[in-house]
Amino acid sequence: MNVDSSNMDAVVVIGGGFAGLTTALTLRKGKNPPNIILVEPRERFTFLPLLYELLSGELKAWEVAPFYSELLGNTGIAHIQDSVESIDMQKKIVKTVSGKKISYAQLVVATGSKPYSFGVQGVQEFAFRFHQFEDITKIRGLIAEFKKSSEQPKCLSIVGAGPTGVELTCKIADITKNSFEINLIERGDCILANSKSFNQEQALKALKRRKINLFLNTEIIEMNKDQAKYQSVVEGDIQYFVLNHTSLIWTAGSKPFLPRLIDKELQHNDLMIDSCLRLRGSKDVFVLGDLSCRKDSDLYPSAQLAIQQGNNAAFNIESVRKGESMKPFSFIDQGEMLSIGLGEATITGLGLTIAGRTAFNIRRLAYLTKLPRLSLGIRSGGSWLIDLSDKIF
Ligand SMILES: Cc1cc2nc3c(=O)[nH]c(=O)nc-3n(C[C@H](O)[C@H](O)[C@H](O)COP(=O)(O)OP(=O)(O)OC[C@H]3O[C@@H](n4cnc5c(N)ncnc54)[C@H](O)[C@@H]3O)c2cc1C
Repeated sequence: MNVDSSNMDAVVVIGGGFAGLTTALTLRKGKNPPNIILVEPRERFTFLPLLYELLSGELKAWEVAPFYSELLGNTGIAHIQDSVESIDMQKKIVKTVSGKKISYAQLVVATGSKPYSFGVQGVQEFAFRFHQFEDITKIRGLIAEFKKSSEQPKCLSIVGAGPTGVELTCKIADITKNSFEINLIERGDCILANSKSFNQEQALKALKRRKINLFLNTEIIEMNKDQAKYQSVVEGDIQYFVLNHTSLIWTAGSKPFLPRLIDKELQHNDLMIDSCLRLRGSKDVFVLGDLSCRKDSDLYPSAQLAIQQGNNAAFNIESVRKGESMKPFSFIDQGEMLSIGLGEATITGLGLTIAGRTAFNIRRLAYLTKLPRLSLGIRSGGSWLIDLSDKIF
C-alpha cells in the first residue's frame, strides 16, 4: 500500500484516550492549528473513572462514553478508526492494521495500558475484567446470572485491591444489595497502596460496612472456572488454600501497551522519555499517559497525569513547529477521588478531605466537567460546584 504523503506536515496522534484526545483538542485551539489526525480503533471515547457509575446506572452511556464523531465534529480533527501496528521513526510513517500508511511531522503515542495477568494460570481464560466500555455488558451479565442462579453459596472473588478493585467491589455490593459473598484479594499488606491515607481509611470502612471478606498478603497462584488457589503469608509462614467462586474479576494488573517501533526494537521498559515528554533520541515523537509511567519513575498512571501531559505536549508540539523552546513537564498532584458505593465517594485534594454523598456529587460533577466538549446544560447546572471541583481534579 502507498504512503499517504499529503499528511507529511500533520500531527498524528495514536490513541484517543485522555492523553491523546487532550493533545489533539488543545492543539486544535491554537492560533494556526496544524492538520491533526487521530488514529483510534474505537468509536467511543470512554471516561474510565466513571465506568463504575455506568455499571450501576447512575450515569448513562452518552455521558460516560460519547462517540468520537460527536466529540470531534466541527473541530477539523480527522479520526481514522483503525489500530496502529507499527511506527517507522526513520521514514516518519505509522502503519495501521488495515494496511494504511500515514506520514507525520510530529507524532504522539498514547496507547494506554491493557490488563495483564502476570502469567497466572487460568486468568486469561476464566477471569472477567473491568477495564473498558465493552466490559460493562459482561459484568452486567455476570450480575444478572448471580441474581438468577439458585446455586448456593454464591461467591464473587475480586483480585486486586487497588482503586479499580475497591471501587468495583463497593459498587457491586450495593447494586446487588449484598445478596452474595464477595472476597477481595490483595497481595500487599493494605488496600489502595498508592492512595491518600484519608481515602484508604474511608474505603476500608466502606468495605467493612458491606461485609466484604478482605484477604491481605494473599496472592493468587492459579484459577479455573469454579475455584482459585492462593498463597498467603501469615507471620512469616506461607500457607496455601483454595477458595471456591461463582465468578472471579481480575483487577490486579495492567501493562502499558505500545505498537511495534521499527528500527528501534524497544520494549516499554526501555522507553526513555526526556523532560519534555519526547522519546529520547527523537525530535518529534512524544510519549504520553500510562505509557510514560516506567517502573522506575515516580509517575503513577492516572487520568489526571494523562490530561496534564496532553496539554504540555500540545504546547511543545506548537513550539517545535515554530522553532521555539519547549516547556519541561512537571506533574501537579491535584488530589484523588474514589467512588465507594452507590452515592458515596471519598476525596482528598488541595487541603480538602471529604467523604459521603457530597463527595459523590463533587466527584461526579468534577469528572463530567472534564469531559471534552461538555454540554452547556451540565455547566450551567452547577457552576459553584464546578469551581470547587475544578481545583481538585
Ligand atoms: C476502570 C478504571 C477506572 C479508573 N479510574 C481512574 C480514576 O478515578 N482517576 C484517575 O486519575 N485514573 C483512573 N483510571 C486510570 C486512567 O483512566 C488511565 O491512567 C488513563 O486513561 C490513561 O490515559 P492514556 O491516554 O494513557 O490511555 P487511555 O485513556 O487508556 O487511552 C488509550 C487509547 O489508545 C487506544 N489504542 C490502544 N492501542 C492502540 C493502537 N495500537 N492504535 C491506536 N489506538 C490505540 C485505545 O483504544 C484507547 O482509546 C482508571 C482506569 C480504569 C481502567
